Amino acid sequence: MIRINENFLKLQASYLFSDIAKRIAAYQEANPDKSIIKLGIGDVTEPLPLACRDAFHSAIDEMGTRSGFHGYGPEQGYPFLREAIAQNDFQARGADISADEIFVSDGAKCDSGNFQEIFAEGIKIAVADPVYPVYVDTNVMAGRSGPSVDGRYQGFVYLDSTPENGYVPAIPSEPVDLIYLCFPNNPTGATATREQLSAWVEYARESGALILFDAAYVAFVRDDSLPQSIYEIPGAKDVAIEFRSFSKNAGFTGTRCAYTVVPKGLTAADSKGEQHSVHALWNRRHCTKFNGVSYPVQRAAEAVYSDGGRAEVKALTDFYLENAKIVRAAIEDLGYACVGGDNSPYIWIDARRPSWEFFDDLLNEAGVVCTPGAGFGLCGEGHIRISAFNSRENVEMAMERIRKALAK
Ligand code: PLP
Repeated sequence: MIRINENFLKLQASYLFSDIAKRIAAYQEANPDKSIIKLGIGDVTEPLPLACRDAFHSAIDEMGTRSGFHGYGPEQGYPFLREAIAQNDFQARGADISADEIFVSDGAKCDSGNFQEIFAEGIKIAVADPVYPVYVDTNVMAGRSGPSVDGRYQGFVYLDSTPENGYVPAIPSEPVDLIYLCFPNNPTGATATREQLSAWVEYARESGALILFDAAYVAFVRDDSLPQSIYEIPGAKDVAIEFRSFSKNAGFTGTRCAYTVVPKGLTAADSKGEQHSVHALWNRRHCTKFNGVSYPVQRAAEAVYSDGGRAEVKALTDFYLENAKIVRAAIEDLGYACVGGDNSPYIWIDARRPSWEFFDDLLNEAGVVCTPGAGFGLCGEGHIRISAFNSRENVEMAMERIRKALAK
């Protein structure tokens, strides 16, 4: 008889977005003449850069010719894109990463969710709280947790991100094997300094742990003192994998292109203590289960590194950062403490009351939708996330409404 993977039954249903939708529907029914502004969304809103569209168009035209047609490409990505990534995102910043350490994929969601597959079932997982849920759920599916009790899966080590630690978690006191870090962070918008990341790298080197570093939001970093890649930290190449994406810098959320860096010298042990290349294992996994990103999409992604593409990506991210600045200024003026929004598109607000209560206040008093922090973990309770992905007009109108509503 066909049977299921019972680990899936441990997964807690996320009611976050359906609860938000229900409350919006109730508000709209009671207030049919009032408009709603949604500042809860993690998807980008601005169109694709012209440089990317031009490259996309030309690649499609090429595909219409016998000589320029591309069928299955290399699973790891075309050399032109892997070279551009290695040179521009790493070597130009002094990080010694080569093109053959880059695996191009269709999303940082899939990569950050799938990477755990190549490690043993019994390893100890550490995740931040609040957290991007993909890291947690994929490890639950893989059988690395017990049941969820009071909002936390048994067996995982949760790293609290709180106002006290500036939303950058401390190194755990108990041993862990696989650590998920995300900076700039979703949902908090917090960034980690060079010293903070160095401490994590040092911990991983000393303890034999591996760090999965999600840098999906790196294009928003404007503070030059902040590291943009974990490989800017000495010694990280031996203990860290990095996930990047074209979703939030160049608006590829619907176009789909991302990449993962797996240094060639990085190893992990088998049950006998013998070391194996993580690069070789990931390459095997990637080639077995993935057939490459389409040629036109990879050409469009390559254009991000052209002079025109660079300028457009800077303008796009500057635009969202200006939105974030407007949000943060308005919320701080009202006396709320926030983090994020300066090197990140997310503003994380200490609501000084339960998340859902603040959510309801903003919806009912101002017609503005945010994301309740409680949906991202226990430590998210008492916070809300506001996203800068919206039009300027909507952001300004939303802040004006919030000022009026909360200043009452
Ligand atoms: N990582 C984080 C932290 C994210 O917030 C997101 C999307 O919101 C992703 C990864 C997904 O990126 P992609 O669009 O490349 O799958």
